[in-house]
Amino acid sequence: MTTYPGKCHCGQTEFEAKLEKEQEGHVLCHCDTCKFLSGGTFTLNQIIPKSALNITKGKDALKSYVYYGDSGKAVNCYYCPNCTSHVYHHQEIMGPDTIILRTGLLRDGYKTLQPAAEIYGKAKLPWEKEVAQTFDTMPPST
Ligand SMILES: [Zn+2]
Ligand SMILES: [Zn+2]
Repeated sequence: MTTYPGKCHCGQTEFEAKLEKEQEGHVLCHCDTCKFLSGGTFTLNQIIPKSALNITKGKDALKSYVYYGDSGKAVNCYYCPNCTSHVYHHQEIMGPDTIILRTGLLRDGYKTLQPAAEIYGKAKLPWEKEVAQTFDTMPPST
């Protein structure tokens, strides 16, 4: 297990994420929501226990909003109200103790972590190359 420091774009939010060996990688999400949120073609994520994320600065200031994903269940998005970086998402379908961390905000990890999987491959743009095992939506186990 390794602890990775992270922060939002403006620095108002800082955190530490503990990643187990098998979590040390980026899950690329190509869904249409991630295109809106990033202004790019995909986001970098990892599914971790809520207890593995320790927000050390700006926790009380974090704001959230809800949207409804493919499942029809709520997805709560937690973001810095100053710079709007999304720090993590909580999908109610995954239960109360699991969150989706934005691994692109890990200050060193984002460079050293490798692509672990690609999800929502069905929404991938045709010119994007495959860099990891790609699932149409989510892996069958989740
Ligand atoms: Zn910020
Ligand atoms: Zn997505």
